[in-house]
Parts: sequence; structure tokens; C-alpha cells
Amino acid sequence: MATKRDYYEILGVSKTATQVEIKRAYRKVAMKYHPDRNPGDKEAERKFKEAAEAYEVLSDEDKRARYDRYGHAGVGDQGAWGSGGMTMDDIFEHFSDIFGGGSAFESFFGGGGSRARSARGQRGGNLKIKVPLTMEEMARGVTKKIKIKKYVTCDSCKGSGAKNAGAVQTCTTCRGTGYVRQIRDTFLGQMQTTTACPTCSGSGQVISAKCSKCRGEGRVYAEDTVTIDIPAGVTDGIQLSMSGAGNAGKQGGRSGDLLITIEEKPHPFLHRDGQNLVYELYLNFADAALGTSVEVPTIDGKVRIKIPAGTQSGKIFRLKGKGLPSLQSYGQTGDQLVHVTVWTPKKLTAEEQELLERMRKLPNFQPDPGKSEGSFFKRMKEMFSR
Ligand SMILES: [Zn+2]
Ligand SMILES: [Zn+2]
Repeated sequence: MATKRDYYEILGVSKTATQVEIKRAYRKVAMKYHPDRNPGDKEAERKFKEAAEAYEVLSDEDKRARYDRYGHAGVGDQGAWGSGGMTMDDIFEHFSDIFGGGSAFESFFGGGGSRARSARGQRGGNLKIKVPLTMEEMARGVTKKIKIKKYVTCDSCKGSGAKNAGAVQTCTTCRGTGYVRQIRDTFLGQMQTTTACPTCSGSGQVISAKCSKCRGEGRVYAEDTVTIDIPAGVTDGIQLSMSGAGNAGKQGGRSGDLLITIEEKPHPFLHRDGQNLVYELYLNFADAALGTSVEVPTIDGKVRIKIPAGTQSGKIFRLKGKGLPSLQSYGQTGDQLVHVTVWTPKKLTAEEQELLERMRKLPNFQPDPGKSEGSFFKRMKEMFSR
């Protein structure tokens, strides 16, 4: 699949464009590449679809916000809109979704559009699910197979809602086309307008006997397994959408979308700080003073790090690239920060107490933060200058 163009660029608007500007820009682009004005032109058709997709996202403040933050991945890159599976009928149907009903499409285009809204049946509802992910899954991306209860197309009638093939009859009002036409004079010249056939609601068919399994609805409530590809770098609360993976529509209507909210499962050892992961390392006083090497858990497995002699409590070791990736900027991965706390014993035996009493007065045991790297503010400065 070719790399996608920026939605703002497609419509020729700035990132701060208002909804009025976006609608106006879309109208302009859609008019230019409208299939009725460019018959048989595949490139125009592609641009027409591209603009519809851009408008679909930018006209929805929620989707637009996600797109602004996470790019194409944030608005369900894998969906039917994205992969080119969107048909012209989908677009025309979608216009009516946006502008609320049959003739609004024509008014939006100033009376244009000769295509049938072959919107059979009724669109299925969107479905919302939550998907909990571990830190490891968020870091690498994951494919999840999830069982959900939803409306699926009835396999007995293949979604038609009819008892058998003979029970599906061609609508006599529209002779099966699903729409009725009119010629109208508009500012663009004479154009055909179409409206959904009132008898069959645009399906082109009428049903004389209903399917017994779905009682004519064309869909049944059942358990279904959906496969969800989650990209690396998602964060808690982010929403992904899978076009067409929601509830099946009635009588062969378009399916709704599946909206997936990501939930972060707490990690047993690692805490997230943006793209960085933080690990609290407790060191025994002798190890901190003498130096040692310790194993530290990371999302890629255990890593051994060297603790130099004289390590202070509060010291931060940085494991480059062991943090989390970003959804927006590919290849930019955070770090893991290993934060040292020198462990002070809470209980002491008589022998331990005696040992410490001997240490207490020794000259090198007296705090001298001025000479060391130990100042808290200095460490903070180091952290943020990197
Ligand atoms: Zn059925
Ligand atoms: Zn009809």
C-alpha cells in the first residue's frame, strides 16, 4: 500500500482550519473530481475517494484530534476506508450519513450526483470495546483475536432477510435500481438527481417471505472473533477504529465500526513516564559503596548493569532505547531509567549494630555532597539537558 497523503494537504487547508473551511474545501475538491464530471477517469476517482476519506476524518472533531496526535494510525489505518476497499456507493451513502438524509447529498453538491444511493438495508451500529494490553504488547504492537458478541450477517439468507431466493422480488417502483431519477436545472447546468426508491428504501428488492432464522432482519446476534492489529506505541486511553467490524447492518446494510479503546495493564516492575520506563532499583549499602553488577528487568528481558563504587541514592542510570516507541514518529524510542535507592536496614541484630557503630565515626562515612555528583538539583539538571 502506498504511503498516505496528509489529510490537510489533500483538502488544501491549514491544520487550524475551521469546520466551515474544511467543508468548503472538501466541496471544492469533491466537485473537481466528481465521477460525473470525470467519467472513466481512474485518477480522478482515486482523488475523489481520497478527499472523502480526508473529510470523513477532519469533519469529526474526535477523529481529527486523534489524527492530529497520532497520524493515520490514530484513525484506524487498516479500515476499509484506508485500504481502498471503499466503494463509490459507500461515499455517497456516507454523505447522507453526514448531512442527514437523501436529498441533502444533492444540496451539498448543488444539485449534482446521478448515482444511486444503493444503500440497502440499515447501517449497523458501532461497537465499543476495551482492550487491555501489557507494556510489552504496547511496546511491540500485537495482533489480538478477541471474541465479541455482536450482530453478524445471517448465514441462512446471506443478509437478505428473505426465506429463499424466490422470496426476493425485484421492486416494481424502481425496477430494481433502488432509486428514482429526476433531471434538474442547477447552477452547474442540467444534472440528474436521484433519491432512494420509496417502496424498497433503495434496495431494489422487496421480500415476500422472511428468513426464519433472522426473522427477516438479515442479521443475528452471535459471538464473533475479530482480529485486531494494534500498532506499536499505543498508550492508555487511545482509541483505534476498524471500519466495518462493528454490528452488521439490517438486511444487508453496511456494517458499523468497531471502536477499540486501549487500556494499559500495570507492569509489575516498570512504570511509564511518557515514552520512558522507570525502574526503582534498591541497592544494599555495601553494594552501593563497593560497586557491583545487578540484573534489571526491561521489556526486552533482563539486562545486567554495572554499579560503580560510590553510587549515591537517587542516581539514575539510563538504558538507551529500552523505553517505549512512539505512535507518531516511527523509530523514536524512549529509554529505561534505573533509579537507585540505597536501602537502609530497618531492623538490626546486635552484631550488625556493632559493625555500624564502628563505621559511624569513620571519616569517609561523613556526607560531603559538595564534592560528589550527589546533589539532587545537579542530577535534575543532567536529566533534562539530555
Ligand atoms: Zn436470515
Ligand atoms: Zn424500489
